[in-house]
Amino acid sequence: EIIFMNEQLRELYQEVIIDHGRHPRSFGELSNATHKLDGFNPLCGDKLTLFMKINGDIIEAIQFNGAGCAISVASASLMCEALKGKTLNHAKNLFKHFHGMVAEDKDIDESLNKLAVLAGVKEYPARVKCATLAWHTLTASIEGKDEAVSTE
Ligand code: ZN
Repeated sequence: EIIFMNEQLRELYQEVIIDHGRHPRSFGELSNATHKLDGFNPLCGDKLTLFMKINGDIIEAIQFNGAGCAISVASASLMCEALKGKTLNHAKNLFKHFHGMVAEDKDIDESLNKLAVLAGVKEYPARVKCATLAWHTLTASIEGKDEAVSTE
């Protein structure tokens, strides 16, 4: 019974990843961005540019464009969806929990909500960089860095 439920959940998660990978939300250049930064994952070939409009400590708008594998695109799409209208501190905490989930084998924090669909990535260490590329780019951009981020 429990195995059946996990299988159902796994399929649901997979569907969300495929959906966001094929039809990313928040996709496209942001014309009035205050922050813009490129990120690369040479290991897989994922590339993205992250655009944000930050006002005070609020991420008023966040979008991305680029190309990459389904996991990198879905992760960027879900990240943008989760962070629009949120504070920089919220973004920082969410990345901490997201990284814990995919790279440190920690329990899924409830604040992750829909981002939990990427939990399965932890079973594929080579894909962790695909899933975290958008987040590393976000962190560097918030810190005011202007040099392209590389996961290598
Ligand atoms: Zn990738």
